[in-house]
Parts: sequence; C-alpha cells; structure tokens
Amino acid sequence: MFTCRNQPCRAEWQLSDIDIENEGQGLLFRCPICGARNPVIRHDGADGIVRYEQTDELVPVTGARRAAREAAAAPGTASIRRKGTPR
Ligand SMILES: [Zn+2]
Repeated sequence: MFTCRNQPCRAEWQLSDIDIENEGQGLLFRCPICGARNPVIRHDGADGIVRYEQTDELVPVTGARRAAREAAAAPGTASIRRKGTPR
C-alpha cells in the first residue's frame, strides 16, 4: 500500500494502480489523482520478486545506495510499468 504524501490528497494506492519510474533523481511514482511525486525504494528479493517501499526522500541515482544505482543502470528496469488495467 502506498499513500500519496501530498497532505491534502493522501490517496492510497496499490502497486497495480501506479507506475514506478526513474526520472533521473531516483525511483518514484506520480499520484494518479494529484500528480505529486512520491519516492520509493526498490528491493530485489532473494526469491526474485521485486518490492517497492515508499520513502520520504528521493534516493539519488548517483548516491550511496548501490541498489538504486544498479536499478537505474540496468537496461529495461528504469521504466517498469505495471498497470492493473491495460488499455
Ligand atoms: Zn495525491
């Protein structure tokens, strides 16, 4: 469950409702209602399942977080799109 950090909005989303994107400053999703940017951290599980955790601050791709940098550097992982309702 993700919660929009825009205080007047505070909408709640499932992963299937949002797009996780890397806009160059770190992974984030934009709230489908208000468009606020909500930073997330990617976790690659040992079982191969990728999970995302909402965070308060954008994690810079060039920062100390190795996982974030690797995610950004790997082709095809920068724009993972997971829509629950394909058009
Ligand atoms: Zn919002």
